[in-house]
Amino acid sequence: MTAPLIDPFQRAIDYLRVSVTDRCDFRCVYCMSENMTFLPKKELLTLEELDRVCSAFIRMGVKKLRITGGEPLVRRGIMTFFHEMSRHLDSGALNELTLTTNGSQLGRFAQDLHGAGVRRINVSLDTMDADKFAQITRWGRLPQVLNGIDAAQRAGMRIKINAVALKGFNEDELFPMVEWCHARDMDLTFIEVMPMGDIGNENRLDQYWPLKDLRATLAQQYTLTDLAERTGGPARYVRLEETGQKIGFITPLTHNFCESCNRVRLTCTGELFMCLGQEDMADLRPALRDNPSSDAPLEEAIRAAINLKPKGHDFDYSRQEVAGQMSRHMSHTGG
Ligand code: SAM
Ligand code: SF4
Repeated sequence: MTAPLIDPFQRAIDYLRVSVTDRCDFRCVYCMSENMTFLPKKELLTLEELDRVCSAFIRMGVKKLRITGGEPLVRRGIMTFFHEMSRHLDSGALNELTLTTNGSQLGRFAQDLHGAGVRRINVSLDTMDADKFAQITRWGRLPQVLNGIDAAQRAGMRIKINAVALKGFNEDELFPMVEWCHARDMDLTFIEVMPMGDIGNENRLDQYWPLKDLRATLAQQYTLTDLAERTGGPARYVRLEETGQKIGFITPLTHNFCESCNRVRLTCTGELFMCLGQEDMADLRPALRDNPSSDAPLEEAIRAAINLKPKGHDFDYSRQEVAGQMSRHMSHTGG
């Protein structure tokens, strides 16, 4: 192992999120427009190149690897990649190999993912109503996702449901979703909608349901205890005393979490984003492709990029307008 990655603000970077494809079998209204132009396949890092970059990060101290997208499970051959990455779990270099998925392909892949050492996954699900699900994902079908969740639990994986809090859309499902997650022994985290990418005719402010309001509603029925637990990420957790379950809040807009940030994000084309809320990135592809038989230039490029990690993001809706808007879609960096 080489020297660990420390950024200019003394934050140790030990968490890498990798978007392995920009493509998806859904078109969630807050994430994509209906007609998306995806990257030509030749632009993508090959699975071997992804392996080289991830392995370099792991040599430099990354302990947690999250595979995301787009929808990671629609990338051809992705299970080969998971199986390759599991060697880093076996060696003890990596503590956790995980993914964020819309759940549509879990029926096919859950068992195999477990076989590759994946033990906890995040499944994105904003509503449990089949019609509303079709409306919010445009192309998704709820029964397929619920089957996927069943398959993942049967395979022995722990599930965290991620739900985007959407004003006027899933406000009325707050308690049913909390109860459903409790009944199935799944954690639940709510996410504030973020200004990522052009989403066609949808208006961000129309979608924005601040989590402080969601939390106040939750407190009408449950006793909430703040937990000290941090994952180095944007989530803050509470325990519902009546049920003992843990609920997370990802609040990039009402609460700034950058001081403890431990992560960077790699896109499927080899761009490294040091902050979800800034446009700056470092392109790792030249170092990778120009040096097929040496990873030293790649490691140098990674170190140089980490030295540029900014202090934080500039998202702000507080003046009733969207500030800090990003031109990229969430599916580009994987959220
Ligand atoms: N397709 C996978 C999925 O949906 O889980 C992985 C990629 S998706 C971009 C990762 C997460 O980002 C999902 O939980 C999704 O709900 C969330 N997301 C997408 N666009 C968002 C936005 N504009 N604001 C907040 N969360 C968003
Ligand atoms: Fe696809 Fe995930 Fe974006 Fe929905 S949130 S369109 S499932 S990438």
